[in-house]
Amino acid sequence: MSDRMEPILPGSYLGILGGGQLGRMFTQAAQAMGYKVCVLDPGADSPAGSIAEKYIQANYTDKAALQEMASICQSVSTEFENVPAQALDELEALGVFVAPRSSCVSLAQNRVAEKKFLATWKAETNIGPVPYFVIEHDADIANAPADLFPAILKTARMGYDGKGQVTVHAAQELTLAWNELGRVPCVLEKRMELDFEVSALVVRGYDDAVVAYPVSQNIHRDGILHTSTVPAPSLKPQQEKKIIDAAKALIRKIDYVGVLCVEFFVLKGGDIVANEIAPRPHNSGHYTMNACVTSQFEQQVRAMARLPLGDTRLLSSVSMLNLLGDLWFEGSEDRPIEPAWNKVLAHPDAKLHLYGKSEPRMGRKMGHINCLGESLNQARQSCAAVAGELG
Ligand code: ADP
Ligand code: MG
Repeated sequence: MSDRMEPILPGSYLGILGGGQLGRMFTQAAQAMGYKVCVLDPGADSPAGSIAEKYIQANYTDKAALQEMASICQSVSTEFENVPAQALDELEALGVFVAPRSSCVSLAQNRVAEKKFLATWKAETNIGPVPYFVIEHDADIANAPADLFPAILKTARMGYDGKGQVTVHAAQELTLAWNELGRVPCVLEKRMELDFEVSALVVRGYDDAVVAYPVSQNIHRDGILHTSTVPAPSLKPQQEKKIIDAAKALIRKIDYVGVLCVEFFVLKGGDIVANEIAPRPHNSGHYTMNACVTSQFEQQVRAMARLPLGDTRLLSSVSMLNLLGDLWFEGSEDRPIEPAWNKVLAHPDAKLHLYGKSEPRMGRKMGHINCLGESLNQARQSCAAVAGELG
């Protein structure tokens, strides 16, 4: 066995591109296991950079910064979906074990490539993408299939938390919508009648071992995740199996190493379609931090370090509540006020996670609370009670 395949052991540095909350929770998991972490982020202070042993403040494509990172870290991952693929290529060329590899991250960064990928493997995975049409040129507008409307136009790149999306009720509105999005490459998706939304979290080790977490059921508000509940209350066992099998097949197809999230829509009538994939630990997987044997962040550490993957077993029913910056402005519109943490912390089943962001802003992800319960109902009740404390 070559050196490259040996596990990377505690005491070593692991690298992460991006210093947001996902990078911070990754850093905490890595440090708990005795690793040191090097964060590269362009920002002056970042939630992950402020707790990492090494913080390189530079642009993702800064050659000197990537060289410095490569000299410290044997393995690097990304927490920021839109990190330039070029940065990952550069690290790979410098001999770093990059997990997931650059081709996997590129695929998830571009909705056109992502949907083509999902469509290509539909026969094998049994779940395909939402019906869609690619808009890249003026001439494409007239060719948009009439049966896609009402539709949603989404930019191919850089969309998150519902940003970069416009509803298009009818074909006549398409030009206006495309102009609004800056005439960049887009996908036009049929707006589906959703019964509910779920996501699958799967992990693949360097040795091709694949494990899956229980599927979570997600509620969004204004395009941003609000709660994730596990076990998924509305999902039938055979639907969960179909979803997990599809996600496992997809992670193998792209030779992906690390944690991957696949979002699915369960439609009125029971059909299932794939929405999008995220090449990293995911907001809908934060429940694993308190409710599973191994958290999604520890799992990312294990995959990067070429260790055996951890057990994904669910230990408790759970409902995760996202905490957006809006909560800081409940009482006053112009001056942020700290939410009533004392009341939240009075709930023995509520596990509070705050990301250490100095400035709350409307719509900004500031933290989350995992509400556990002996039964699914208790977890949901506990979540409703905690949400009630926050107003
Ligand atoms: P983001 O990258 O912002 O998460 P998504 O494509 O996942 O973008 O869209 C955000 C949310 O918008 C979804 O979770 C879902 O609630 C809704 N949505 C997106 N696409 C569709 C669609 N084709 N039909 C119905 N609802 C959709
Ligand atoms: Mg999404």
